[in-house]
Amino acid sequence: MRHVIVGNGVAGATAAAELARRQAREVEIYTAERHPYYFRPRLPYFLAGEISQEDLYVHPPSWYEKRGIKVHQESRVMRLMPDQKRILLADDTEVPYDRLLLATGGVSFVPPIEGAEKKGVFTLRTLDDALAIREYAARCQEAVVIGGGLLGLEAARGLKVLGLSVTTLEFSPRLLPRQLDDEGGAIFRRLIEGLGIGVALKAETKAILGNGEVRGVVLRDGREFPAQMVLIATGVRSNAGLAAEAGLQVERGVVVDERMLSDAPNIYSAGDAASFRGRSWGIIPVARSQALVAAANMAGDNVLYETVVPSNTLKIVGIDLTSAGTVMPEGEEFGEIRRSDPEAGVYKKLVLKDDALVGAIVIGDKALARKLERMVIRKAKLSREEALNASS
Ligand SMILES: Cc1cc2nc3c(=O)[nH]c(=O)nc-3n(C[C@H](O)[C@H](O)[C@H](O)COP(=O)(O)OP(=O)(O)OC[C@H]3O[C@@H](n4cnc5c(N)ncnc54)[C@H](O)[C@@H]3O)c2cc1C
Repeated sequence: MRHVIVGNGVAGATAAAELARRQAREVEIYTAERHPYYFRPRLPYFLAGEISQEDLYVHPPSWYEKRGIKVHQESRVMRLMPDQKRILLADDTEVPYDRLLLATGGVSFVPPIEGAEKKGVFTLRTLDDALAIREYAARCQEAVVIGGGLLGLEAARGLKVLGLSVTTLEFSPRLLPRQLDDEGGAIFRRLIEGLGIGVALKAETKAILGNGEVRGVVLRDGREFPAQMVLIATGVRSNAGLAAEAGLQVERGVVVDERMLSDAPNIYSAGDAASFRGRSWGIIPVARSQALVAAANMAGDNVLYETVVPSNTLKIVGIDLTSAGTVMPEGEEFGEIRRSDPEAGVYKKLVLKDDALVGAIVIGDKALARKLERMVIRKAKLSREEALNASS
């Protein structure tokens, strides 16, 4: 039985390891990248020059050898041929499979901004992106980051550490619009500004200025920011083109059922590439659990995926922020407890439903953040009184 995996990110690598653990014989990974499997969340630290390239790599080559997993780097898959149970590589080689996993991840989404094709405009998804950004940053003094989400802020901090003057532009009225409410957002903004990173909110980018090379950014309301480089961090889209071209059902990502099986026989998908119940989460815990389920089913077991509660932690040294589960509840069935101390940079919000903790935001209290995150993931029982005590 030949198990072929397209993509060597966390979903592909996890599935390969799980297949090997289940004694699957032939396991092969095909990846477009020229680097071994690396941990994307560490890219902002690499960008900042705080860790080396080697620190990004997850496994030494011997790890794969020991498990009998063959990894083909710089092997882009160009086409799926489900009828023949084959894939076509860029060098025209056809590779047969019995079971195929599409773990092709995501690509940075670039909105239609005038001037986005100029020299000095970047996105951060891959190690090659990070290498290119670092090289270019060496000749810049000012950078603009478009997007005040987790990735945008982590990248902004990386550029700041490299010595650039950085401004982050966020379209919505607060930073981290998906993870924070207005009150937490205001406290968090002060913490970010305290790092020396400029923040502009309600900032709708009109155009990236410059004659061929970036010279600045102008917003629709006329505000202008000088910059020699721009990093666009406005989200991720599933990389599902291969599946769509082969006629598989694709809605944002490759549509999969609870077994991570697509609508084509023997073709599975997991991670950022997949769409389960209309959603593609774009986070590692989801990619990992989906990959384990896909691998189990590819190996002949019958395992069903259970939705993972989303949780995000900002990885900026000196700022502890965790946002887990439902943090902006709508409906009378939810209860909320909020405590804030803007001077101390502390904010806590607990969201309750049916006497269980279903969401939490914690800024400035790492120990509490860990505890509440675990409770949210378990949907732990918590009365209002206990919640009041926990947050005090
Ligand atoms: C800078 C950064 C920081 C992040 N921080 C966090 C964090 O703190 N927490 C968190 O949960 N998530 C974080 N994420 C998101 C997380 O990295 C992704 O959810 C995760 O990488 C998804 O894994 P994946 O295996 O599905 O896809 P990917 O990691 O995108 O891997 C996809 C692989 O498929 C390959 N591929 C694509 N198309 C082809 C093809 N046609 N042929 C061959 N190979 C192909 C790609 O080259 C790549 O190797 C971060 C992402 C970035 C970029």
